Amino acid sequence: MSDRRLEIVRGDLTRETTDAIVNAANSSLLGGGGVDGAIHRAGGSAILEACRVIRAAQGPLPAGEVVATPAGRLAVKHVLHTVGPVWQDGEHGEAETLAACYRNAIELADTLGPASVSFPSISTGAFGYPVEDAARVALPAARHALAHAKNVVLVRFVLFDDVTHRAYLQAER
Ligand code: ADP
Repeated sequence: MSDRRLEIVRGDLTRETTDAIVNAANSSLLGGGGVDGAIHRAGGSAILEACRVIRAAQGPLPAGEVVATPAGRLAVKHVLHTVGPVWQDGEHGEAETLAACYRNAIELADTLGPASVSFPSISTGAFGYPVEDAARVALPAARHALAHAKNVVLVRFVLFDDVTHRAYLQAER
């Protein structure tokens, strides 16, 4: 376990140089705002084309599940698209679904070979999940999956704004 690391940094996920990044997509897989829009803008049409093929084959992606595409112009090798839960009141399985996003993304990365994976703060933008609560779900879920991974040795949370960054640092204490 000593060779495994979980990092929390402030930054822009589209500039990451880990082997994979995780997109906080929506079920349509056809692009959206927030980090999803930023990834598609920076990575170019190859990502959307791959998403369209997946969408045509299997329909909308359920919350908590993950699919992988190439990364187009991005520096990373893979984009793993997951769909976070839309926050309702915390009584609709939101935490379980959010934990599944992190677990399934790290497990999928592990089968594809990446040694390093970067995440945004899934669901805490347009999907309205309170960031302090999300951080307390995301970090243990990622840490647990990392501990059980064979290939993944680095999980990095790349947090776009100061409030989110501080919430994750606070949850780590
Ligand atoms: P969701 O729909 O899952 O809530 P959003 O993209 O709306 O996803 O927001 C998730 C988080 O991603 C928010 O904290 C938002 O500030 C952040 N975000 C937006 N752009 C970027 C980016 N380029 N890099 C990292 N995080 C980003």
